[in-house]
Amino acid sequence: MSGRDEGVAVVTGGTRGIGAAIAERLRGDGWTVATLGRSEAADVRADVADPAEVQAAFDEVRERFGKILALVNNAGITADGLAIRMPDEDWTRVIDTNLNGAFHCTKRGLDDMLKARWGRIVNISSVVAERANPGQANYVASKAGLLGFTRVIAREMGKRGITCNAVTPGVIDTEMTHDLAGDLKSAVPAGRVGTPEEVAAAVSFLVGDDAAYINGATLAVDGGLGA
Ligand code: NDP
Repeated sequence: MSGRDEGVAVVTGGTRGIGAAIAERLRGDGWTVATLGRSEAADVRADVADPAEVQAAFDEVRERFGKILALVNNAGITADGLAIRMPDEDWTRVIDTNLNGAFHCTKRGLDDMLKARWGRIVNISSVVAERANPGQANYVASKAGLLGFTRVIAREMGKRGITCNAVTPGVIDTEMTHDLAGDLKSAVPAGRVGTPEEVAAAVSFLVGDDAAYINGATLAVDGGLGA
């Protein structure tokens, strides 16, 4: 079977930036897509950090759109600052959204995939997950955690036709990076920042039929920044 013919792809944080490009790309691939976010622009509204809201949102997706056979955990935030001065609330908010949010959504998203014995999960991590980025202890911890989570889900679900992979974008031109210092951007070997569409192309591949044997992998889309 092919998931896109029978199921729905949920893209968290699909209202703007990378998530919006992923949603558009998957629609172009033939998927029915449901975007999930806090703002009105989302197809279904939910804060991924809130387990009850996530449960209600996934129930709503199934009712309005159909069974969920692909999930892209893309919703993410930053709240930068040196660890020693980081407010506890900033640490918790970032981990709650970027890491715990992916857990809540994955747990609720697996039901239909298990029944279908076919599923695709893609977690949007970051190039900083495998490096140190001073000023981003909360963000780096969340994105590194996401890579570990990806590998475990891959092992737990691998026998059931479900794959779970991660994408690690580098510096991508979205609202999140508009204020970023020029020296980080100029450190990219490709000599430019990436586009949301370039990340979406990698997600499209991992969600597609050709990626059936790729499981627990991390695919960098960073212009060489993490090399
Ligand atoms: P944006 O800030 O442009 O978009 C973030 C998206 O996440 C929005 O759609 C927002 O929707 C949603 N979101 C944020 N918090 C929540 C929440 N609690 N619940 C539900 N949705 C939420 O970010 P980008 O497009 O740049 O980033 C997308 C992902 O890619 C993030 O995980 C980010 O960490 C990662 N990434 C980005 C890079 C970059 O250079 N831009 C580099 C590496 C990784 P709403 O406001 O409606 O809730």
